[in-house]
Amino acid sequence: MKDCIFCKIVEGIIPSTKYYEDEHCYAFSDANPMAPIHILIVPKKHVASLADLEQIDDAALAACLRAAEKIAQKLGVKDGYRLASNCGKNAHQSVQHLHFHLLAGEKLSPKMG
Ligand code: AMP
Repeated sequence: MKDCIFCKIVEGIIPSTKYYEDEHCYAFSDANPMAPIHILIVPKKHVASLADLEQIDDAALAACLRAAEKIAQKLGVKDGYRLASNCGKNAHQSVQHLHFHLLAGEKLSPKMG
């Protein structure tokens, strides 16, 4: 989608540090890391958020979720990770292209809110 920063990253127009890619999804470093490992996993097809899942195939959604464990294994993540997706204003979603934050590398806050 025109003017979507994550679509531009997927297309290689904006540079990124890639961690994983398959036919459905792309994963890259978050520019403002909130943990020692902070990677964003996005579907290649533009969809704004979890509120719009009817616009992407189940295979694309599954690929995003499966990518998290693949990346964790590749990076040798120990003792777990968090996978989170902010959806909408109240959750402070700032980029309107569905993405999953993969956070790891330290003991994360027990607070989710
Ligand atoms: P959210 O607030 O859940 O919408 O998360 C958006 C995330 O995208 C934030 O953690 C930002 O740091 C990250 N971000 C924004 N622009 C870029 C970029 N060009 N490259 C990598 N991460 C980005």
